[in-house]
Amino acid sequence: MGIKKRDLSRVYSLIKEKDSAVVLSHQNPDGDAIGSTLGLGLMLRSAGLNVQAAWPDPIELPLKYEFMPGKEMLTGPGELRFDGLVIAVDCANAGRLGELEDAVLEAPAVINIDHHPDNTFFGSVDIVDPAASATAEILYKAAGELGLEVDRDIAVCLYTGIVTDTGRFQFSNTSAGTLQVAAELVELGAEPNRLYEEVYQGDSLSYMRLSGELISKAVFEPETGLVYVFMSQEELRRFGVKMNETEDLIDALRTLRGHRIAVLFKELDNGKIRISLRSRADTDIGTVARRLGGGGHRVAAGYTSLKGSFEEALEELKGEIVAP
Ligand code: 5GP
Ligand code: MN
Repeated sequence: MGIKKRDLSRVYSLIKEKDSAVVLSHQNPDGDAIGSTLGLGLMLRSAGLNVQAAWPDPIELPLKYEFMPGKEMLTGPGELRFDGLVIAVDCANAGRLGELEDAVLEAPAVINIDHHPDNTFFGSVDIVDPAASATAEILYKAAGELGLEVDRDIAVCLYTGIVTDTGRFQFSNTSAGTLQVAAELVELGAEPNRLYEEVYQGDSLSYMRLSGELISKAVFEPETGLVYVFMSQEELRRFGVKMNETEDLIDALRTLRGHRIAVLFKELDNGKIRISLRSRADTDIGTVARRLGGGGHRVAAGYTSLKGSFEEALEELKGEIVAP
């Protein structure tokens, strides 16, 4: 599935018609959400629009994304204006916008740009391509079609989105087309090594220590192929780590030989438990996450459990996972 010309021409008219835009993404934004929000924001700003960018609170950027160009567009929730163009990026459904959901659904013009297979088409225009590795990849192609200029800063944002959502071009969503887009972004000024140093050599010592602690507690069940660990609020406090620093923690579990599904259970500050799931290409965990109230891709998905403890959340998950 590609991008439909008719949808793009509606986006084009909206950009011409409006003089302001708010670009939004999901709660706890990852590299693709941040890169897509800021990259698109910068494109629209170059096209002459007044741009605000946001996601649900906390809006603060994770430390390793502090280098991202365009962060001055980030605006607190109280100051956002929804009367111009409203664009949601990397959000499978409006619920992912947290407290911004109502304002978005009531806005006169909403463009939904995303690559999740379970996108609910909540926009007035929906540009959804599940074959794209990242929302940033869709944005790069759309920019070409719309005649929006991609300068160095925009290339850095979009490249960051693609690198992080493809696990540095190693996940199953990496295609020849992804690598071609990445190559063009490098030609436009994105520097792979600089990005690597910022994002992948940007951990704090406290985070490294927490990661070590969690790896040493991880449980592997050869019968189900599950490798999992629970991270409590107490551990975050004890190690002095912020929740928004833990996006890549799940990757530490994925290097284990013979595992099928890696699971990270995170206790949130409201006591609920958030579950991140990652699988090898032959196991669909997007469906599992959807059955439990969340969603995502075939091999990377998540949900928030309604159960009150880690033990119950683990049992609930095991009940949904079919043994190999
Ligand atoms: P993460 O484990 O990094 O939080 O999420 C992995 C992927 O799962 C995200 O890219 C997102 O697509 C999806 N995801 C995570 N949580 C939710 C959720 O609560 N609802 C939906 N629809 N998708 C989610
Ligand atoms: Mn994404």
